[in-house]
Amino acid sequence: MEGGCRTFRKTLHVQTKRKFDVIRVTEVVEEAVRESGIREGFALVFIPHATAAVILNEYEPRIVEDYITWIKRVIPPGGGWKHDEIDSNAHAHLASAFIGQSRVLPVSEGLLVRGTWQEVLLLEFDGPRSRTLVVEVVGCG
Ligand code: ZN
Repeated sequence: MEGGCRTFRKTLHVQTKRKFDVIRVTEVVEEAVRESGIREGFALVFIPHATAAVILNEYEPRIVEDYITWIKRVIPPGGGWKHDEIDSNAHAHLASAFIGQSRVLPVSEGLLVRGTWQEVLLLEFDGPRSRTLVVEVVGCG
């Protein structure tokens, strides 16, 4: 990128409350974008964890329950996984690996670009835990 471009990083902590949990973090991500002062670029939302994930989708009580039901159906906890012989959270590693630990959103005119029903959500599969959330805003202006 040309001159006047930079990176702004903010590290936050999110407390999850249950073994499976869905936490909306949109507001803290938007706050980080505002704080960055960056007008045009993108925001990386990343968690340095192997048993949680980040998605971009609706935060409504029924679909929030559906995320968890779906994950449990596709990757059942205690489903005969080898890693469960060590610490019985194989399902959490698998869900994290397949869903992913980051999302990238555009930043335009100093604001996070997202759809009406797109919230930034942290998915917990092995809580309750304190999770670290890194928001890295890269851009210019
Ligand atoms: Zn493990």
